[in-house]
Amino acid sequence: MTETVLTTPPAPQQNPVPFLDLQAQTDEILHELRDPWDQVLRTSGFVLGPEVDRFEREFAVYSGARHAVGVGNGTDALEIAFAAVGLGQGDEVIVPANTFFATAEAVLRCGATLVPADVDDDFLLDPQDVAERVTARTRAVVAVHLYGQMAPVARLREVVGPDVLLVEDAAQSQGASRDGFRSGGAGDVAATSFYPGKNLGAFGDGGAVLTSADDVAQRARRLRNHGGIGRYEHLDVGTNSRLDTLQAAVLSVKLTRLDAWNAQRSAAAARYGALLAEAFGDVPEVVAPRELPGAAHVWHLYVVRTPDRPAVSEALAAAGIGHGIHYPAPVHLLPATAHLGFGPGTAPRAEAHADRILSLPMFPGITPAQQERVVSTLRSAVTGRRERPAVVV
Ligand SMILES: *Cc1c(COP(=O)(O)O)cnc(C)c1O
Repeated sequence: MTETVLTTPPAPQQNPVPFLDLQAQTDEILHELRDPWDQVLRTSGFVLGPEVDRFEREFAVYSGARHAVGVGNGTDALEIAFAAVGLGQGDEVIVPANTFFATAEAVLRCGATLVPADVDDDFLLDPQDVAERVTARTRAVVAVHLYGQMAPVARLREVVGPDVLLVEDAAQSQGASRDGFRSGGAGDVAATSFYPGKNLGAFGDGGAVLTSADDVAQRARRLRNHGGIGRYEHLDVGTNSRLDTLQAAVLSVKLTRLDAWNAQRSAAAARYGALLAEAFGDVPEVVAPRELPGAAHVWHLYVVRTPDRPAVSEALAAAGIGHGIHYPAPVHLLPATAHLGFGPGTAPRAEAHADRILSLPMFPGITPAQQERVVSTLRSAVTGRRERPAVVV
């Protein structure tokens, strides 16, 4: 006879709101994938099939670059981009302190020197701070278009001058623009990611290097395929990092929807803006993100700043509201970079943001009701803590 164990069932979470829901996107395109996928399966062109070529041409046009080179993921795209422009030992590379670790990792993996710089109140590389970190050894500055909004590329170009390479980390910004430049088309070379959760996401890993320089594109194309120009003719020490043909077919179909999906994100961001202004008019410590003049933000993430983040996060979790922290520590304060000896104070604004940022649910198809629930839960999480009188026992 089995023992009866009495347990308290978990409290039912009424209408949880996921942080990210990709199902609607997938459902929308699935029927269009049958033919292109059948074609790949029938021809067995799984690696560097014609669909890769086709997507590369479409994505280059979309990004305002002459060339796109499909690779295995966004991290490889950064590494291959760096190698294609010849970054290495002895080169200083300026990177914003608040980015996904891959940006800094790629600098370190190519043997260059990591120079973290501070950001502004919109989380983007601060040209003034960059100017102060430029030395005779500076070879590149990496403009990370964080959360979907482009870094100030025109100003960055001005402050670093013509001899420093402008590299874009465009992993979070497909479709964004600023000052007349499109994401991926503004720098000497750019790297992007098609990780499923990005604005343009594959059904697995993927990435691309973008550039308008023919020689850089050619080198990137060689490097992703063992440095080869023909079969078994290896010109460089490269790697194996190619965009899968099946993923390229997915991306071609998704690219036709990207502007519409970004418009849905933008509408959701406007709705969050209005809801937050109403809910936190009396709480200036809760700060909503903004779209800068001259910029088209694509809202990869919707990141607010909040006081009491641990408690707020706990309250959101208890209410079934998905959320994230992008990122909990700046790149210079991670265990992986401890040996470089950067301390707190290296990038004060990025460090301050790291303790307050909170990413709310954001994806094409998020409903007004879901957003209202997110904001009202956030409101009670923030003010509930602030206004609850101290209990004296
Ligand atoms: C996702 C991301 C990357 C890395 O892309 P993967 O495809 O996951 O390797 C690099 N930089 C930024 C800013 C990212 O968001």
